[in-house]
Amino acid sequence: MYITTTGEILTRSFADRLRLLMGPQGLVEDEADLERYCVSFDGSFLGRTNLVARPSSTAEVAAVVAACAKARVPMVPQGGNTGLAGGAQPIASGSVIISLERMRALRSIDVANDTITVEAGMTLAEVQSRAAEMDRLFPLSLASEGSCQIGGNLSTNAGGTQVLRYGNTRALTLGLEAVLPDGRVWNGLRGLRKDSAGYDLKHLFIGAEGTLGIITAATLRTVPRPRDVATAFIALSDPESALHLLQRARGLLGDSLSGFELMRRECVKWVLVALPTEKPPFAEPHPWYALIEATAQSEPGGLRGPLEELLAVALEEGLLIDAMLADSESQRRRLWRLREGQAEAQKAGGAGIKHDVSVPVSRVPEFIKRADAALARAIPGIRPFAFGHLGDGNIHFNPMPPEGIATASFVTRREEVNRIVHDIVAELDGSISAEHGVGQLRTAEMTRYKSTIEREMMKTLKRAFDPNNLMNPGKVIV
Ligand code: FAD
Repeated sequence: MYITTTGEILTRSFADRLRLLMGPQGLVEDEADLERYCVSFDGSFLGRTNLVARPSSTAEVAAVVAACAKARVPMVPQGGNTGLAGGAQPIASGSVIISLERMRALRSIDVANDTITVEAGMTLAEVQSRAAEMDRLFPLSLASEGSCQIGGNLSTNAGGTQVLRYGNTRALTLGLEAVLPDGRVWNGLRGLRKDSAGYDLKHLFIGAEGTLGIITAATLRTVPRPRDVATAFIALSDPESALHLLQRARGLLGDSLSGFELMRRECVKWVLVALPTEKPPFAEPHPWYALIEATAQSEPGGLRGPLEELLAVALEEGLLIDAMLADSESQRRRLWRLREGQAEAQKAGGAGIKHDVSVPVSRVPEFIKRADAALARAIPGIRPFAFGHLGDGNIHFNPMPPEGIATASFVTRREEVNRIVHDIVAELDGSISAEHGVGQLRTAEMTRYKSTIEREMMKTLKRAFDPNNLMNPGKVIV
């Protein structure tokens, strides 16, 4: 666990001031109740505070932020607290966490414009179901969707399993409302698909991890809900075959290709240990697996033919070892659980050193080959664990300790392992954070992997929005 702050006490009179602004429901002060805000969802980060503010409207967020700005109190915006980079845990002593959990309202739906406007604290799962009620799809999909909030998704520019077809959170956002670090409110909730009148300010807040302001609402794109879905689980010998298969899938399935996930043998092995009710996909284990999904608006059943054709072509070209097509929705869900159970699998196998990297799609096999070899040289017996969104060039590369080596001793080599993996990523023109953000986890590495001019531009923006460095200090760029 990363423990980040000693938690200097915010004064009683400051707490009283915030209570006046939000009412008694708006403040959490009891030590037992504070715990779940201070520790991240996966238990990796702990940052203390003695006050959590829970505003219930944009006006209350603005009032709380203005009060903090006036008293020079550092603020940490928090959504569902499922982030994996420690962005929602305080670093600066005497910080207040501002949770958006009471701002869950649906503001409006515009069916003809294909948009939905929601408050930042609505969970992703609820946004999806509100869209479904109007027979539309909100296509962002993450394993944490029952808990993460749309404000957190926007702030981390979350990705997930359907980016290949629909893009990441940034691509799904048309407008935002945000409270600036001095308490002023910017209403940019425009549902426009074209707007070239000046800088596109919403993009500054998307992926800013709460360092430039607090997102309070968003206007999001929805798309027609697919009627047909076809899913296949495929055994492969190596990532090169997977890359060729992806190219074939693009050619044969075109725009209907919505997901192309890659998993190593060990990932499936440990899911089966962690979730013993799940079944192995094939009689024998294989070195690599791909989970392919296609979706379309056409009548159900229409995609099965093209997917079978893809598998036949791939078999003929020697790209796959074995394959199975989901015959029912329940079988499809079972296949997806092999992919979505990776967090549990990782825990069962012995927590690894995690990396959320991206490289150009064409270079994923080279990345895996080079990183595997370099790590095996540095730490003989290190156990590979890698899965991710091949279609987006995004791999979660999380090697586990060699047999017989305790996790506690393995993680003392975290910096060395990070350096090996991230140097290769940099050489391949990739990114050290594809979808989880920088938070507090990767700030030191930003210095190594971002150019001076990139860091200077980021710092200039940060100073312009937040000259007193009160909005989520110590995160992203320091
Ligand atoms: P939090 O964790 O609360 O916050 C994340 C960051 O955003 C923090 O810096 C915080 O200060 C800031 N923030 C939160 N709300 C606001 C706001 N309203 N205004 C300004 N700043 C704000 N991520 C992916 O991208 N793809 C995946 O496939 C994926 N799978 C996951 C699976 C599991 C099991 C888990 C636990 C996590 C996964 N994640 C994934 C990571 C995580 O769910 C995402 O980063 C998510 O977008 C975080 O949302 P949240 O509401 O929990 O944000």
